[in-house]
Amino acid sequence: MTWLKHTYKTQLPKSLYSVQAPEFVSNPEMVLYNKALAEELGVEEYLKEEEKALAYLSGNETVPESEAIAQAYAGHQFGHFNLLGDGRAVLLGEMKTGKGLYDLQLKGSGKTAYSRRGDGRATLYSMLREYLISEAMHALRIPTTRSLSVVKTTDAVYREQTHEGGILSRVAASHIRVGTFEYARYFGEAGDLQELLEYTIQRHYPELKDHQNQALALLQTVMQKQKALIIDWLRVGFIHGVMNTDNMAISGETIDYGPCAFMNAYHPNTVFSSIDTQGRYAYGSQPKMAYWNLRVLANALLPLIDKEEEAAKEKAQEVLNQFPEDFSKAYFEMMCHKLGIANPVEEDRPLVEDCLGYLIEYKVDYTNFFTALRRGGELIDKLRKEEVFETWYTKWEKARVRESSVAESDALMKQNNPVIIPRNHLVEEVLKAGASGDMQSFHTFLEELSSPYEDTFSIQVVPANFDSDYRTYCGT
Ligand code: AMP
Ligand code: MG
Ligand code: MG
Repeated sequence: MTWLKHTYKTQLPKSLYSVQAPEFVSNPEMVLYNKALAEELGVEEYLKEEEKALAYLSGNETVPESEAIAQAYAGHQFGHFNLLGDGRAVLLGEMKTGKGLYDLQLKGSGKTAYSRRGDGRATLYSMLREYLISEAMHALRIPTTRSLSVVKTTDAVYREQTHEGGILSRVAASHIRVGTFEYARYFGEAGDLQELLEYTIQRHYPELKDHQNQALALLQTVMQKQKALIIDWLRVGFIHGVMNTDNMAISGETIDYGPCAFMNAYHPNTVFSSIDTQGRYAYGSQPKMAYWNLRVLANALLPLIDKEEEAAKEKAQEVLNQFPEDFSKAYFEMMCHKLGIANPVEEDRPLVEDCLGYLIEYKVDYTNFFTALRRGGELIDKLRKEEVFETWYTKWEKARVRESSVAESDALMKQNNPVIIPRNHLVEEVLKAGASGDMQSFHTFLEELSSPYEDTFSIQVVPANFDSDYRTYCGT
């Protein structure tokens, strides 16, 4: 019985992918299996036999009647346009779920036609990292790709030194990226772009089907999705780290958990990625970079927006022009919600700005601040000894009960402020243990991160100076 569909392969032009079986791996062992997700997706019945699950999710056995592909894409990496593609991943197929088709992809599954100089593999450590953080993001109620499993193999992976190999199975609404459109536009054959547009609309945004300008409508919709996504990232202090256009999903899901990290002390310039030396993808630059990427999407779509290039540019620009104001409005609302103000008014603006100013000035932990503000405690008591902060605090107390009760305001704060996040030092601790075979602390941490808004947790203590030399990496 076939449980994987292949619409990407059967409905799209051949230039957009290449047929590619995963490489055989030695001594595969299931390290993580997300049974709850398998059940949610309705594929648990095909994976409940452990041996079968391991065979499929390691790539050592083909799912009956299926054929894996590597997807072609291009992308602007740190501003530079490159021809890319799944260099270490294959799409096994699409699962039919109650919410539509979901991709089942293996990552770290070996070389493909798009591997360039890469080895096609991933370390166990980095696949555990993606599993942990993507599942944590899901629990934070942020759109994201999910993780179904991690398999380890004894095939060595070299990254300066030898590591155990890991294969992640990633679940996504699709893996269509801004970079997929760039590929179709600049490397595809005539007609490819139109076919990709139609496929994308049918798969993700069927409500746009009858729109008189589908390309423009797609741009507008993706813009809204990305706006909401980045707002969510900023809300919880998430730094993606590598917002290249090949890592921006058309579905609006967070994708690619290579060098991401969470901010502790609030500062817009916070960067952890070892290769982001200019701070291009710093915490506070994410809105600007999302806008930059949307501009790239608009460029790729131009021929479908209007046959006349100038007219197309004008129409695209008109859509893009809405972004800065829309974003700033949504950001302000989100920050007010963090402060427990349900219906912000213009005079709340300095309240947000000053608050962030104090967080920078006093080097306050972003997550802990909002929890402490609601719950009270040492952190807030200490800040309130500062006269300027106390003045702010008094204004805040008034603003949040302007139209609601304290209880309502507290509830709003609780809903918008996680008590716990995947703290960098804890992430590293559990991954180090996990990569050397002890998964116990990983499981405990993952379990905690599954209910990040619960008041059962106390405030996380962050070791001083951990962040100053903390670095994250791509492609490990
Ligand atoms: P990323 O920076 O993670 O978005 O990756 C950019 C591109 O490099 C993607 O096309 C990946 O498939 C590819 N890539 C990353 N690591 C490897 C690897 N070890 N082998 C082959 N391709 C890779
Ligand atoms: Mg990527
Ligand atoms: Mg990556």
